[in-house]
Amino acid sequence: METSKKNEMISIGELVDREKRHLNYLRISITDRCNLRCLYCAPDGRIPKLNHREILSLEEIMRIVNVGIHLGIRKIRITGGEPLVRRGAIDLLGRLARIPQLKDVSLTSNGVLLEANAQRIFDAGIRRINVSLDSLIREKFAHITGYDYFDRVWAGIMKAYEIGFAPIKINAVAMRGINDDEILDLAKLTFKYPFHIRFIEYMPIGNSRSDSTNQILTPEIQERVATLGELIPLDNGQIDGPARRYRITGAKGEVGFISALSHHFCATCNRLRLTADGRLRPCLLSDQYIPMKETIRGDGSDEQLAQCFRNAVKQKAAKHQLSLNGAAAVKDQMQGIGG
Ligand code: SAM
Repeated sequence: METSKKNEMISIGELVDREKRHLNYLRISITDRCNLRCLYCAPDGRIPKLNHREILSLEEIMRIVNVGIHLGIRKIRITGGEPLVRRGAIDLLGRLARIPQLKDVSLTSNGVLLEANAQRIFDAGIRRINVSLDSLIREKFAHITGYDYFDRVWAGIMKAYEIGFAPIKINAVAMRGINDDEILDLAKLTFKYPFHIRFIEYMPIGNSRSDSTNQILTPEIQERVATLGELIPLDNGQIDGPARRYRITGAKGEVGFISALSHHFCATCNRLRLTADGRLRPCLLSDQYIPMKETIRGDGSDEQLAQCFRNAVKQKAAKHQLSLNGAAAVKDQMQGIGG
């Protein structure tokens, strides 16, 4: 592990909240910039961008990570915005992958820049990658994301597969009337490739151009997938996260269902999220946060940064308040939080 400034002051102790959840997973959004404008993620009109000065530097991120490691953080996911649009993203991944205390360092990307960067990401030591892909039809992909980049994303996924990334997880936000007619085609990819296809329920976050009328919930998605064959349940591995995982009989890959609304997984949530502008969020689906940037830039000690982690843990609610009718929505944009 890289030496952390003033780390002699940290009183080591794991991050365990009042629900006895061990928070050992930090998801870090390294930029609010994105090269797509997905219906369910980007708001209408111009997206206010963070000023460069507001975004944590890679050194600041590393320092926060080092403090987190002293507090038991063992898993990190780099996300965004689109992480690969940030200069230095792959170097950061390499630095994280070399930290022996971290059991898992992974990347979530929209895949647009993956073909060009997959080998460097692999050489940096990353093996697990999540790519967001909501449609296998070029025109529909363009409608959902605002850009005609399906071929690029697919080429990126194929490149990652050839290079040997495993698992490759493909995240699809299921939306009624938009891509729900492709649920079976997406699931069928698991017969041809060892991919993990994960269907994510749309979450009403920020001011997006999608709304809950497009929502399609896991029970219905799962029922449709089950028409392809028996769904054999798979055990959740320790670092598997919230997906309920299955293998369709005869498939090489897996299907998974992430049901934040229809079947919330708060009781097993082990996550904290660091936004690109240095806010530590105890829950994706709540606007609460602990600011860290002021501490880090105000010459705060590592013990003070550790206290930010502990305060976030204290604030972590037992259960998110988002409801199916969208009564309690999250105001922050997903693009800034990182998913
Ligand atoms: N740009 C990267 C990507 O596309 O994967 C990383 C950031 S993106 C915010 C992370 C994930 O959040 C993506 O898989 C995306 O589909 C998901 N996401 C964004 N908005 C969502 C929403 N309203 N409901 C459910 N998932 C959402």
